[in-house]
Amino acid sequence: MSAPMVHAQGLRKRFGKLEVLKGIDLTVERGQVCCLLGPSGSGKSTFLRCINHLEKIDGGRLSVDGELVGYRQRGTQLHELREREVAERRRDIGMVFQRFNLFPHMTAVQNVMEAPVRVGGATPAAARADALRLLGRVGLGDRAGHYPAQLSGGQQQRVAIARALAMKPKLMLFDEPTSALDPELVGDVLDVMRQLAADGMTMVVVTHETGFAREVGDTAVFMDDGVVVEAGDPRQVLVEPRHERTRAFLSKVL
Ligand code: ADP
Ligand code: MG
Repeated sequence: MSAPMVHAQGLRKRFGKLEVLKGIDLTVERGQVCCLLGPSGSGKSTFLRCINHLEKIDGGRLSVDGELVGYRQRGTQLHELREREVAERRRDIGMVFQRFNLFPHMTAVQNVMEAPVRVGGATPAAARADALRLLGRVGLGDRAGHYPAQLSGGQQQRVAIARALAMKPKLMLFDEPTSALDPELVGDVLDVMRQLAADGMTMVVVTHETGFAREVGDTAVFMDDGVVVEAGDPRQVLVEPRHERTRAFLSKVL
């Protein structure tokens, strides 16, 4: 039995006096897609940031691929990770944000090959070949030489996905990847994510696209006010929720 890709047990996170995650229990198995839903301020982004080593955890346990986030285990001893070790672990995790955050002065292919060359030790020629292959995979093979400003929001977001994939992550985190897009551009981005899921990528996706969650998600998790209210088969959680809070939320987004 291999460890789950993401395993949170009683995970707590506070900002000063504000407790944002109040004991999150959540498991994402390898190859699964977990869709995270919940009102604004419920702690979804903070949870993703904890998984990606961007926040220090205040309580409970969180592991990614069997390794405790923030710590290295030697026998029974735990050592806090050094900055360099955190950076190494983060390379295995791809993250895509609501805002695409592409480098504006670089073309699509330069954006995608940047990290493999700068931190991954790839040669520019190999990184470029790989980047062109990835741009093809997200449907942008003919846009490699375009700058972000010459691309639509949906195209920029697909470049951002290709850029995250360039480091060959074992886990992809998506934080409302389609929320900033014009409605007619959402479909292409969701199609790329659907294909990625079909290829076996493990994904945690914060999204209010309930159709996507039902169709692609292996689990749906509804969060509210720093707790998991309910989690399970998306066709149950999103269609016949057990909790009033879930029902009230869904009636607003649907
Ligand atoms: P969601 O993504 O579900 O909208 P967030 O995780 O972004 O929720 O935020 C949860 C709560 O934590 C909010 O009340 C937010 O204002 C607060 N918060 C998030 N990041 C910080 C921070 N760096 N410092 C202080 N408060 C924060
Ligand atoms: Mg958020």
